[in-house]
Amino acid sequence: MAGLIAARVLSEFFEKVTIVERDNLQNNNLPRRGVPQGRHAHGILASGTEILTDLFPDLEKELVKSGAVYADVLNDGRWYFEGACLRRSATGRPGVMASRPLLESTVRRQVQNVDNIDFVTGRSIRELAFDGQAVKGVITEGGIIGANLTIDATGRGSKTPEWLRSIGLPSPAEERVEVQLKYTTRFFKRRSNDLDGDTIVLIPPTPEGKRGGVALAQEDRSWVVTLFGHFGHGAPEDLDGFIAYAKGLPVNDIYELIRDAEPVGEPATIRFPASVRRRYEKLKTFPDAFLVFGDAICSFNPIYGQGMSVAALQGLALKTELTNGYDNLARRFFNRAGNVIDTPWSVAVGTDLRMPETVGKRTFGVKLINWYMAKLHRCGHNDAEAARAFIKVAQLQEGPETLFRPSIVRRVFSHELRSRVGRENGITSARISTAS
Ligand SMILES: Cc1cc2nc3c(=O)[nH]c(=O)nc-3n(C[C@H](O)[C@H](O)[C@H](O)COP(=O)(O)OP(=O)(O)OC[C@H]3O[C@@H](n4cnc5c(N)ncnc54)[C@H](O)[C@@H]3O)c2cc1C
Repeated sequence: MAGLIAARVLSEFFEKVTIVERDNLQNNNLPRRGVPQGRHAHGILASGTEILTDLFPDLEKELVKSGAVYADVLNDGRWYFEGACLRRSATGRPGVMASRPLLESTVRRQVQNVDNIDFVTGRSIRELAFDGQAVKGVITEGGIIGANLTIDATGRGSKTPEWLRSIGLPSPAEERVEVQLKYTTRFFKRRSNDLDGDTIVLIPPTPEGKRGGVALAQEDRSWVVTLFGHFGHGAPEDLDGFIAYAKGLPVNDIYELIRDAEPVGEPATIRFPASVRRRYEKLKTFPDAFLVFGDAICSFNPIYGQGMSVAALQGLALKTELTNGYDNLARRFFNRAGNVIDTPWSVAVGTDLRMPETVGKRTFGVKLINWYMAKLHRCGHNDAEAARAFIKVAQLQEGPETLFRPSIVRRVFSHELRSRVGRENGITSARISTAS
């Protein structure tokens, strides 16, 4: 996805763009070897949707034609935090939900339609062609493919750090936050009365339970259901074990959805040990005519669904910096991409640090934000404005500072006060509420 986005941006600035891909790409919507995460739930955030539809105006139309589901993330979704569901309301920007293979192949077809972009597939990049100062292209088993600008978008397994060391240059400092996540996914047939018509369920893991799950309505009238667990937890693949795991989640919605649903296809499991951020923006020396992009810079704990949208935001950063010319491009791009990554990284890492097993600095700021977020979520059970403010940050449409606007802080603390008075008077609110 990052490579496709980068190529689309480059096509506005260069005569010819070549995408080199190791897999033999078939024009179908099936998972492929180079993207094993494609078998698991993949949501695109509102921020990513907006950028992708700017880059590819026909994208949503094409996705819907292929059966993707149009949904408003808050109005059609059940987001469970602090034991109850966020208050439902329209966010004003519905988006499409599709499997990763359908989304990727639809984006790819749009890229294939761009006249000056070519694909070289079934060719693995072995090394970068380097003349001692600048990268001149890539070396594949089939020979050198030359370029005036080369971008590494080979994902989390990017070999750029090793390669930099091999040519005697420093490699980027790496931040690693262990999350020890296990993802298990199954697809089920969707029935018209499932979840009373809702199309999204998100049950994040609690620091104590460490288990969560997500269900998203997809093309082919199916549900993708991904169950996950941290630090030794995780769902088995067999159907009975999978359903039993869903029953053990803090909320029953996914269990109710799948307990007598018809399974489709084979289950899949993937492990994600750690979020990794490579600090290219801090390097003092870096080869000319070369950039790194997407997961190759930073790959996040996937439960926050940020990766593709952050790649799209990096696409905007690339466009801005190319508009400013080619001098010093790497430094300018990495600085801008670093700014783009700061928010989703702090959201993901800050939330992961709620788990005692997560290794990382629990600064006063992180503890304060997590304390406040729990109160915000509780307020959001009844307060549509608080719920929407949170969703806009989670969807990377607004910065986290917006959650500290006086109007939101006032709502959060007056809700806290009312609940405390209610508790003291013996009034308890419904633990689980999906009221709109
Ligand atoms: C389990 C899981 C669930 C996720 N869920 C979400 C989600 O819900 N929402 C979301 O936005 N993001 C999610 N992500 C992250 C998302 O998949 C990535 O952020 C996104 O795909 C962008 O990654 P990328 O394009 O940089 O790398 P990748 O998607 O890994 O693509 C790398 C590409 O490079 C090719 N390649 C690799 N090495 C070579 C080589 N040597 N030569 C030629 N080609 C090569 C690969 O074949 C592949 O096509 C999830 C990730 C995981 C692991």
